[in-house]
Amino acid sequence: MSVGIAVLGCTGSIGASTLRVIERQRERFRVVALTAFGSRDKLEQVGDETGATYLGLVNGEVGWRRSSNGTCRRATGTECLIEAATHSEVDIVVNAVVGAAGLQATVAALEAGKRVALANKETLVMAGDLVREAARSGGGDIVPIDSEHSAVMQCLTGRAPEDLARLILTASGGPFREWSAEKLAEATVEEALAHPTWQMGPKITIDSATLANKALEVIEAHYLFNLEYDAIEVVVHPQSIIHAFTEFVDGSILVQVGYPSMELPILYALTHPERVPDAGVKRFDPVAAGDLTFEPIRRDDFRAFALGVAAGRAGATTPAVFNAANEVAVHAFLNHRIRFGNIADVIDCALQAHRGDPAVDIETVLAVDRWARDTAEAACC
Ligand code: NAD
Ligand code: MG
Repeated sequence: MSVGIAVLGCTGSIGASTLRVIERQRERFRVVALTAFGSRDKLEQVGDETGATYLGLVNGEVGWRRSSNGTCRRATGTECLIEAATHSEVDIVVNAVVGAAGLQATVAALEAGKRVALANKETLVMAGDLVREAARSGGGDIVPIDSEHSAVMQCLTGRAPEDLARLILTASGGPFREWSAEKLAEATVEEALAHPTWQMGPKITIDSATLANKALEVIEAHYLFNLEYDAIEVVVHPQSIIHAFTEFVDGSILVQVGYPSMELPILYALTHPERVPDAGVKRFDPVAAGDLTFEPIRRDDFRAFALGVAAGRAGATTPAVFNAANEVAVHAFLNHRIRFGNIADVIDCALQAHRGDPAVDIETVLAVDRWARDTAEAACC
């Protein structure tokens, strides 16, 4: 019996990589449910190709819903994410939605006892404790797709969690690794979208240029691996070959190595703790990979990173404020409303105004998220 999969955000970069992985593993996995935001034609095409029996179009019109042919259920509106994530024939939910919109589906899937293969790191940043509680109470599990966290999980699997002592996550450094602070402030949208090693959606590509992405990943690691912030470090590694260093209590360090491709972490998230053969993964050649270099992160110049890690350390709803303000600032930058150098200013403004309410439940987190968006939006003017 093959394993049923829901792909939330199937029209994006991670969604497309997931569909390629599943296509190569057809005897193991079958696509049951798919969702997209607004790309109706693409969603229908992927639905036809995979034989999915549930299609959810978040921003779809009611007319689209009615034209269902009977064998495939169609739904519209934000609820379709939760419906797909809790579908009775779904065993694994690949959450490849970008941003805060992915939170409730992750929680619902975990409460329903599903595995969540999580690309949507914003889920853990916004509500890490509540998400872990949902997994505990519902019996679901989270396996990260993010390459750094997948690397750590691969090194940890089969070992006692308390043997883990420290992580060093790697960062490519993005397109502006060697730029001066003055030049950085004026970087254009085109320059920021030209990532040197990874092909990704626009939001995470900008996050990689500001290094906000690495702050989101530090917070993600804190919740996934139960580590204090002092035990999570970051080093710049421009070649993106070593994805993370996993240090154990005896001082040993294990690393996972591979060319920058999300298909391997996606496959591992579907099969963990097992491994299956996959002819589609490019075999590693150490000589061709060339020199591997490491440098410290420039915290003073990449302020979004420092702000994000500080928000993580502050805990409660502060990371949710960081996440929401960052989403608003990135959107404003992509729409040429603010300069690259202002992204950190907008985030800082929302964080300064925040009171630090506790994250008692998902509704509270979502209310804080809305407040932070309004505050950040005002700071963009
Ligand atoms: P993307 O922009 O390419 O795709 C986003 C997907 O989410 C699309 O299918 C879109 O239709 C859907 N979507 C957008 N807004 C939505 C909304 N409001 N409600 C429901 N669905 C919505 O993004 P991506 O690069 O695939 O990234 C997806 C997630 O994976 C992000 O959280 C990102 O940080 C994470 N991630 C991506 C990569 C990568 O290589 N692309 C690597 C690691 C982690
Ligand atoms: Mg990553």
